[in-house]
Amino acid sequence: MPDRSIEELIELKRDGGKHTPDEIAHLVTGYVDGVIPDYQMSAWLMAVVFRGLDDEETVWLTDAMAKSGRIVDLSSIPGLKVDKHSTGGVGDKTTLALAPMVAACGAPVAKMSGRGLGHTGGTLDKLESIPGFHTSLEPEDFLRQVRDIGVAVVGQSPDIDPADKKMYALRDVTGTVPSVPLIVGSIISKKIAGGADAIVLDVKVGSGAFMKTLPEARELARALARTGAALGKRVETLLTDMDQPLGCAVGNALEVAEALSILHDDGPEDLFQECLALGSRMLLLAGVAHDLDDGRARLVTAVECGAAAAKAREWIAAQGGDARVVDDVTLLPQAPCTRVVRAATAGWVAHFDAAGVGRAAMAMGAGRATMDDVIDPAAGLVLAAKVGDRVEAGAVLATLHAASEELLDAGEARFVEAVRLSETRVDARDLVVEQ
Ligand code: URA
Repeated sequence: MPDRSIEELIELKRDGGKHTPDEIAHLVTGYVDGVIPDYQMSAWLMAVVFRGLDDEETVWLTDAMAKSGRIVDLSSIPGLKVDKHSTGGVGDKTTLALAPMVAACGAPVAKMSGRGLGHTGGTLDKLESIPGFHTSLEPEDFLRQVRDIGVAVVGQSPDIDPADKKMYALRDVTGTVPSVPLIVGSIISKKIAGGADAIVLDVKVGSGAFMKTLPEARELARALARTGAALGKRVETLLTDMDQPLGCAVGNALEVAEALSILHDDGPEDLFQECLALGSRMLLLAGVAHDLDDGRARLVTAVECGAAAAKAREWIAAQGGDARVVDDVTLLPQAPCTRVVRAATAGWVAHFDAAGVGRAAMAMGAGRATMDDVIDPAAGLVLAAKVGDRVEAGAVLATLHAASEELLDAGEARFVEAVRLSETRVDARDLVVEQ
């Protein structure tokens, strides 16, 4: 128990002071146990947004958060367990393709994922759009599935990192999400509690990401790696573009279909490249590949020889889902109404504001405004062009999918605001901004 009261701890941080490890642990456990009320935690979080935490304080926060609940023991699964996390973006369905690709190469994937708030669903919502697929497994069944078939993706159980669950929900409604030490604490604590030996982090940069600029994203990537290392975990980071959605599909079942197309070597190039960039790092950290080129080659082979698609069938069936979706995506939920949006003039696609495209999908039912909202798994949109593409007047820019014409109207109004065409040539964007 620290000498200072909670008010004094808030004042200390407000005035730019430094906490002790005990003080940080007390703030975290006090909040999880309900001794510290939301209003005091919000004030402390806002003080952190303005004053920051130094490297030591960030490590103490991360450690206290990871220890706020159960730490998953993956030691019964042979090999090094490498987890992957994205700081979040629009159309980011990478895990859905990456998990079977990496597992098909022989690295175990024991992953806990979250639901989405805002733009579109999270990985769990996307997986649950597969008929029958369930995302809650008892801990022993989760471990058995990874041992037996090499891959399982489940929802995070409430006893894992409860501090992050409570703090993230509070940050979400108090304007305290964009803070490097708070994001680091949230991400690294979850991955440590999930039992990972090493972590590959996809740090998104651009209009649809928390980090809007390259210097901010670099700062976050470095802080993630430093904190992971201080807590004994190897962390590899990759900075990737989120100025336009990843791939073409935005919306749960549409994203599953697109991820599955990657396994048939028939998906959007940027999504495939992202899977290779992240997957090769996972294979390297897991000790399966001897360098990144070897990792990429193994992943490409797994796709080309059908091993990745076969692993996806096994994985989906093991979690109760209809594995036929891997070869027939029409078995996924389909929206009754669709509409194409066409270019009003000819030009080059200069900008697809990722956040704006996400809002369009959300307006059609693909995302949640509050955690209680129900997602329409079939809703969303599929882009027909990407930044740098030349389009003629009347060319299709996207197809919208929704449950009614009114929802399509709402989606279209937001979608057209998110697109900008240019009369002069615009170059395609690089997906990997920095290795
Ligand atoms: N993703 C997380 O898991 N936590 C954050 O704080 C931000 C992005």
